[in-house]
Amino acid sequence: MLDCVVIGAGPGGLVSTKELLERGFSDVLCLEKSSSIGGVFANSYDELELTSSAVFSMFSDFWIGDGNAHKFWSKSEVIQYWTDYAKHFDIFQKIRFGANVTSVNQNEDGSWKIQIADEADIICKHLVLAVGNNNEPRLPEWTTKLTSVEYIHAKNYKNPDNLIGKRVLIVGGGESASDIALEVSKVAKQCWVSLRRSTGWVTPRIRGKQAADIATHRGAWMLPRSYGAKLSKLIIKSDKAANDPTLDALVDLNERVTEKHGIWGTYGTKTIALPEAMAKYGCKIIGEIDVVENGGHDLKSSCGAELADVDAIIFCTGYKTYIPFLPKHLREIDARRLYKHIFLPSLGDRIAWVGLARPAFGSQFPIMEMQARYCSHVFSNELKLPDPESMDKTTKQDAHNYNDQFEHSATSIPSLVDYFIYMNSVARIIGCTPPIYRYLLTRPGIWLKLIYGPMQGTQFRLRGRGAKTDTALAIIKKIPVSTFNHVVKAGLIGRLKFALPLPRRANPK
Ligand SMILES: Cc1cc2nc3c(=O)[nH]c(=O)nc-3n(C[C@H](O)[C@H](O)[C@H](O)COP(=O)(O)OP(=O)(O)OC[C@H]3O[C@@H](n4cnc5c(N)ncnc54)[C@H](O)[C@@H]3O)c2cc1C
Repeated sequence: MLDCVVIGAGPGGLVSTKELLERGFSDVLCLEKSSSIGGVFANSYDELELTSSAVFSMFSDFWIGDGNAHKFWSKSEVIQYWTDYAKHFDIFQKIRFGANVTSVNQNEDGSWKIQIADEADIICKHLVLAVGNNNEPRLPEWTTKLTSVEYIHAKNYKNPDNLIGKRVLIVGGGESASDIALEVSKVAKQCWVSLRRSTGWVTPRIRGKQAADIATHRGAWMLPRSYGAKLSKLIIKSDKAANDPTLDALVDLNERVTEKHGIWGTYGTKTIALPEAMAKYGCKIIGEIDVVENGGHDLKSSCGAELADVDAIIFCTGYKTYIPFLPKHLREIDARRLYKHIFLPSLGDRIAWVGLARPAFGSQFPIMEMQARYCSHVFSNELKLPDPESMDKTTKQDAHNYNDQFEHSATSIPSLVDYFIYMNSVARIIGCTPPIYRYLLTRPGIWLKLIYGPMQGTQFRLRGRGAKTDTALAIIKKIPVSTFNHVVKAGLIGRLKFALPLPRRANPK
């Protein structure tokens, strides 16, 4: 029997395998059905550029190379980074490629029996599921009426080559929808984007010369979420003042966010592609489609728009959580039933889901690393999970908090979490929150980076379980801090409003 099996060698599987190796498990196997690493990025659209910057997306203990802090990786560049990471931490020796897991069942003693196509079964004590949450496209019911137009899900979109001169509808307003809308608008005769509510909170990848996600720093994000409405107004005011047609379109989209916590009550769409498509290429925003006629050629939306002679539809409508090889009761697991979006209370430390917490802002990669660190400490018995009742109670409270914070988005994206709150809460369990106070007194230069640099994974390597203090300090010194911009100023206004000393707000519940 193996100690641990990790299913999937996307970024979540790589970092899980690496953390288990670092905890001393030599008996680890990572099963990957394809022939390479990269996960969704190996097959996504041609011009994909990450929406989180390299410095935010990096794993905590493996630097991205000097001069790359404000870079946004292409898919080949991010796969190269993970390849270098896997080589550096000797992960490849543990991956079995071409291993398609077809079923997983639990034995009476709690261990797992894993069936792989054309291979002998494998038994393991602990199982990590790192198969991603972008496998099973979610499509609206009205696709059954689309008998005369071409339609695809974003999962299968590669480029707009076959849409030149056509009339194209894009359904959905997240990051893929935005990037695809810009590509399509540049070549199509007409492009519309249909939104149910909003596009989430739109923010550019780059502001000035800096990666905009540096603004996901403690200086602003440690404030109470009730400040989100005021923060949103200050950001909108600053964007309006720029008098730029693309930023005006961005403001139009952000003014659709009606949630009580504004920017902090919804998900982030960290690309300015859709505003650019609207301002420069005539892309039109319409409401939800409620009438489908002529096999999909003619459509009407809830805002009264009538679309005639539509040629093609691209659905950017997200994904269902569905893991087909699991026992039936676990296939469609609701992330909000998992303790810290990782452990099912009734199954304890036997099985962990890595990758089922999608951050509203920030990046999913540091989250997956934090989850992998937690699992590895639990599997190695350095940390004990709370008893099932306590886990259930905490899980319900977390779900309640997220439902309250994110309102509609909490149900439309059941894995949605607040990056800042989530990272701090798991870090507290692991015991690796950064000693902010200490650095304020002893190393103010590092303190400044911790407060006004991006809150990425390296901050959580400074102390506690899994600490790599020297490596972390060397990396943090290279991490940029934000310019004195509108978000920093809004954070300072918020601090005055709440009159709370910095360190006390470092780890809000
Ligand atoms: C288009 C797109 C862009 C994104 N951009 C960003 C971004 O810029 N920043 C960010 O933070 N997040 C981003 N995300 C979100 C998230 O970070 C990615 O989805 C990330 O790839 C998730 O990693 P993962 O390892 O959990 O899953 P995946 O990348 O999906 O990897 C899962 C792996 O499991 C394997 N697998 C599945 N089933 C089996 C099986 N039965 N047997 C064996 N192996 C199996 C798959 O082949 C795959 O290699 C993006 C997501 C998408 C879809």
